Amino acid sequence: MINSKLIIYSCLILTLSVAFGQSKKDFSWPNGAKAAVCLTYDDGLPSHIKTVVPALKKYNFKGTFYPTLASSSIYEDMDKWKALANNGHELGNHTVYHPCQKSAAGMDWVKPYHDLDNYTLDQISEEIKLANTMLMAIDGEKDRTFAYPCAHHIASGKSYRPFVASQFLSARDSSEAREALLELLDIDLNKVPSWAPNGHNAEALIGYIQNIIENETFSTFTFHGIGAEYLSVSKEDHEKMLKFLDANRDKIWVATFKQTTDYLASYKNSFPKKRE
Ligand SMILES: [Zn+2]
Repeated sequence: MINSKLIIYSCLILTLSVAFGQSKKDFSWPNGAKAAVCLTYDDGLPSHIKTVVPALKKYNFKGTFYPTLASSSIYEDMDKWKALANNGHELGNHTVYHPCQKSAAGMDWVKPYHDLDNYTLDQISEEIKLANTMLMAIDGEKDRTFAYPCAHHIASGKSYRPFVASQFLSARDSSEAREALLELLDIDLNKVPSWAPNGHNAEALIGYIQNIIENETFSTFTFHGIGAEYLSVSKEDHEKMLKFLDANRDKIWVATFKQTTDYLASYKNSFPKKRE
């Protein structure tokens, strides 16, 4: 009796010590990469079809596109958006009308009827659900990720983060994480950090990637126009960044937001709750 109890206790202690002893050292991304990065492209812009898709194809990378579904490019190039999804790129939810808080600094461009300050929680929830339906009509998928337009989440004074968390596995958040990358295990999958370049050159883009590799973590780029439109990065600098990623495939895993966050979620779920 004593012996069997001892055996049970010993097994328990061994199990707990193995579980709690788990650390980042036990983790690796696919192919043994030290870090992971997602290339995300927002707002459904014509340069995504014209420039980004051919560039990603050249290096065989898959990107994540967060189109604003009211964007004219979705209507005009519907066959190309469908083909892009069919070729393994991800289409994520970025709402239909891209509502942002007009009251925030630099947001004068927000149309009064797309002002998140005037949305109710029901209104934003309905819009997000409609975006899911429209995206499903384009790519046939049901499970999806989300990216907060303008990284805003307050509608009429209330956060819609709880609704997003109930509908999506993961969500891309802040655009100011360039200098302060999080530890892998501290990343909240409902607030995944991101950096949105704006006129930055290849050196800056590559520097960000090197920072992700050195910190052995995971982050995302939020791109808008490539060689066109707004918050843009030149076609040449974007291409140099892809070339750098291609040359460093052994160190950094480049995959869609859904692939990387699904992978991280399965790892975090295997972890005791001590850090969450
Ligand atoms: Zn956007």
